[in-house]
Amino acid sequence: MVCAISCRTVQEEEEIIRWLATPAPGEVLIRDSFWSPRIELNRVETIPYIFRQCEQTGRIDNFAIAGGLKKGSHTGARYNDSDVFKIIEGACYSLMETPDPELRRYVDSLVTIITAAQEDDGYLYTTRTIDSINMAPGAGRERWIDERVSHELYNVGHMYEAAIAHHLATGSYTFINVALRNAELVYNEFGWDKREIAPGHQEIEIGLIKLYRLTGESKWLELAQFFLDVRGRPGEYMHHPAESRFEVYNDSVYLQMHKPVLEQSEAVGHAVRGGYMYTALADLSEETGYNRYLKASQRLWDDVVRGKIYITGGIGSKEHGEAFGEPYELPNMTAYTETCASVANIFWNHRLYRATGDAKYLDVLERTLYNGLISGIGSDGCHFFYPNPLESDGSFERAGWFECSCCPVNVARLMPTLKQYVWSLTDEGVNVNLFISSQARLSTIGGEVVIKQETDYPWSGTVRISVDPDTDGSLLSLGIRIPSWTGKAPFAGGLYRYITSPDKRMRIKVNGKRAQVRTANGFAFIERNWNRGDVVEISLPMEPRFIEARDEVEADRGRVAVGVGPIVYCLEEADNGPVRDLTVDHNTKVEFTFEPDLLGGVGTLTFKAKAPSGEEKKVKAIPYFSWANRGRGEMTVWIKSEK
Ligand SMILES: [Zn+2]
Repeated sequence: MVCAISCRTVQEEEEIIRWLATPAPGEVLIRDSFWSPRIELNRVETIPYIFRQCEQTGRIDNFAIAGGLKKGSHTGARYNDSDVFKIIEGACYSLMETPDPELRRYVDSLVTIITAAQEDDGYLYTTRTIDSINMAPGAGRERWIDERVSHELYNVGHMYEAAIAHHLATGSYTFINVALRNAELVYNEFGWDKREIAPGHQEIEIGLIKLYRLTGESKWLELAQFFLDVRGRPGEYMHHPAESRFEVYNDSVYLQMHKPVLEQSEAVGHAVRGGYMYTALADLSEETGYNRYLKASQRLWDDVVRGKIYITGGIGSKEHGEAFGEPYELPNMTAYTETCASVANIFWNHRLYRATGDAKYLDVLERTLYNGLISGIGSDGCHFFYPNPLESDGSFERAGWFECSCCPVNVARLMPTLKQYVWSLTDEGVNVNLFISSQARLSTIGGEVVIKQETDYPWSGTVRISVDPDTDGSLLSLGIRIPSWTGKAPFAGGLYRYITSPDKRMRIKVNGKRAQVRTANGFAFIERNWNRGDVVEISLPMEPRFIEARDEVEADRGRVAVGVGPIVYCLEEADNGPVRDLTVDHNTKVEFTFEPDLLGGVGTLTFKAKAPSGEEKKVKAIPYFSWANRGRGEMTVWIKSEK
């Protein structure tokens, strides 16, 4: 078949890569003492481990059997195809960073099996193709008729994203052609005056918009818009109830189908679905220029930061329906905060930042990244959390795999794309979004420039940025994010605030002298003519500070948390014995130590606390993300406060 993307110029390809999730290889290099070991662990441990799990649990055989390459029956859940797509996506972005011929061959062999599993008309859903009578529960009697439950569109949304990653990493058209044939089928089936049905689990919208960015084919954008616009209209499929084991699918709030998307202003229902949908709203606005979709996404964000987000950046507090709770319903022990919801939260905040240039979204992104996201992955890279509670009675631990294993695979696909969040190009120059040691060659308004960032953040607040334009005297604006945590609150919305003020303020120097800056949108902009060898030094106040939640948050009432920069700390039993009944005075002196031999190298805090007996003792707090790596035990983020 003729591929729609075979005739692009190199410049166009580069432009497309910029539009997609990941910058071009070589454009940004992360060499960071905090993140590089994690990205490497993901590459050498997590990705191969997940591929093995996919083999052992029949996820890959499902494709082989559907393709007639093997005999057998379908095993596992109806959405298991998506795990294979997601880990291929992660592996491909990893290949763009670090070539690995063996991994490349393995991924290509999976693409061959997936290609075989596709039906002649483009349909791809292994359980139905293998045996349309005895399908995985929830698959729906016929194609598409129970899409609310079946995940047929959810699975292929992940396939589009994986196929794009495969094309970008390898230059091959094989997988992208499978994706395009499927998208063609979906386009013929769904739309106004066709099947007017929205996906039960959002995701395909993101995949379609990426397909549009890659190919320039407007129908993919049109279809994404349709899938958003059709939500909240009474659909034929809401008339027949889901079978009893899928009862939650009868709830239109759970599915975010209770109102048209443009009328939704409260984050409700399944948090991952919501997060993907709010991301797609911002994407659609960016591509169409229809501001109303962006406004809807921003309204929903306001609702989340005002009362539905944890201090760790986790969202979706309720186990029932894996859903957003009521405002301020943020229990700690039973906090659900699925790892996938943190992934969605990072996507969403990144898109809102791209659309607005406002650093308040980066504050949430950074907080989620350093806390609620990486808590989901153990220090060995092979043990995971699905929910990420903020308190434990000792009964909660990491697992090697889950029957529904969306979470490990989601982190594995995000890690190799981390570099896209570090810098951004603006109309006036370059913004530093995150403090991560890295180097970038960027084509700015002031010409080509190499920018290098060096730091031991988040364990140190010193950041050194060198700016080397190809031509001396280049005029451009360098925006340095002023993190919200340097001020009164960890992030916007008023849900949490610091009890203690910082002793120091953020300082910025250029070539040793205090910089002249203009502040706007949460950035300090340095506008000047840059010469080779220019150096910007930033010092961020990394003092331990106690945090309290709004009084309306019952679970945190009379309690305090402690943070340093973006890192949230917790007390764990392994260091302190039982921790849930300890009390702390927020005026107590807190000492920070970097412990290179603890948990792969982390900053710890020591301070005085009181046992229930009244006895005073020194306790040690560790970063929240690193808990549950030393066996079972109690843990708490919110410590009882002595008042
Ligand atoms: Zn998940």
